[in-house]
Amino acid sequence: MKKIVLRDDEMPRQWYNVVPDIPNGLRPPLDPVSHKPISPDKLGAIFPQGLIEQEMSQERFIPIPEEVLEIYSIWRPSPLVRANKLEQALGTKAKIYFKNESVSPIGSHKGNSAVPQAFFNKREGIKRLTTETGAGQWGAALSFATSKFDMACKVYMVRVSYDQKPYRKFMMQTYGGEVVASPSADTKIGREILARTPDTPGALGMAISEALEDAFAHADTNYSLGSVLNHVVLHQSIVGLEAKKQMEIAGDYPDVIIGCCGGGSNFAGLIVPYVPDYLEGKKIRFVGCEPASCPSLTSGKLAYDTGDVAMMTPLLCMYTLGHDFVPPGMHAGGLRYHGMAPIVSALAREGIVTPMALHQLECFEAGVLFARTEGIIPAPESTHAIRGAIIEAMKDPKEPKTILFNLSGTGVIDLPSYDQYLQGNLQDYSYPQQDIDESLAKLPNIP
Ligand SMILES: *Cc1c(COP(=O)(O)O)cnc(C)c1O
Repeated sequence: MKKIVLRDDEMPRQWYNVVPDIPNGLRPPLDPVSHKPISPDKLGAIFPQGLIEQEMSQERFIPIPEEVLEIYSIWRPSPLVRANKLEQALGTKAKIYFKNESVSPIGSHKGNSAVPQAFFNKREGIKRLTTETGAGQWGAALSFATSKFDMACKVYMVRVSYDQKPYRKFMMQTYGGEVVASPSADTKIGREILARTPDTPGALGMAISEALEDAFAHADTNYSLGSVLNHVVLHQSIVGLEAKKQMEIAGDYPDVIIGCCGGGSNFAGLIVPYVPDYLEGKKIRFVGCEPASCPSLTSGKLAYDTGDVAMMTPLLCMYTLGHDFVPPGMHAGGLRYHGMAPIVSALAREGIVTPMALHQLECFEAGVLFARTEGIIPAPESTHAIRGAIIEAMKDPKEPKTILFNLSGTGVIDLPSYDQYLQGNLQDYSYPQQDIDESLAKLPNIP
């Protein structure tokens, strides 16, 4: 069987929380001012209790609300597919499977967390959500989710993406989301930045600061984040829980599981349900693929750092390149984040996750081969997972093994990036260690 789906009665009805199973555990988030563990009250100014409980939870299984399951059913279960044509083209004995998260209405895995985030906010009387978006994937996911719960959504979109990559802006507006270019005149911090630098292209850190200011200023408004945090990883575990059942139906068990890593949520979502097996002695390798131009796991430092430039977010213990690290413009915009989810960071610290840094040309080459064999044009982010899978399959092409990777999204909205690649306009870029060290020297000083 090439493509495996699940019956209704086989669908997961609980998310899996890996936190209690991580050897040596997670370090707590800290208050950015006092450097003491942050109190749930303080988080309550921008997050609903339902999500704060999940963020701090030590329960292994957390029920998925009926209302969320119903919206999930628009695209879930996502298919598990055997990539036979890719295997043939490579001439490998390895079996390659992928979990196809590109089939969601917004074209990526991000809806898996946007829907429960909107739900838990709505349940506590919140009427409006704010967020930031770079290339627009998260803004589109949250606009979709809020439309399902009759809520308003305001997205602060980094100026340069707003001007140059308008298609996801149109998606957000179609779902009823309000989108402004960041920095904007709608917030105090935005007006200050505009007064100083009217021509700034914007940056994710500025957009986060605007979205936070807006949420703090309005009682009916909360803030929402699309990756990195524990509750986002929890929601994304639906990907791995489905995949595990589908692999069972296929009669296979993965030797290697691979995903691309921006903030770490789609990779973590696929691997976490397999972590207990690993801890019981199963031989599985978990490979996290990141861009060589934004290499938090392979070249960063495990330390407490903030999520934004203005240092308004809690401090998280994570592999980081430093909060004012500015990655070069690259085509996998969703992988341009300076830090890695604390859960993925802790799994890497314990040697459970193996990181791999990849260059953009080899990734686009893999993406084009995938399009010409399996027929799907992958998101530039997802090409990192495909390249990782090809490297694993070709280490020893005669060795039979089973590889599973996450196809986190479609590239149909990112075709200008493919155009740039096909015209030969892209180059590889490794971030100089010296510049990384400079940015790391500015980390908050916490032992
Ligand atoms: C946002 C995004 C990513 C990176 O985010 P993670 O939290 O690391 O999963 C990867 N792929 C796609 C398609 C995305 O939209």
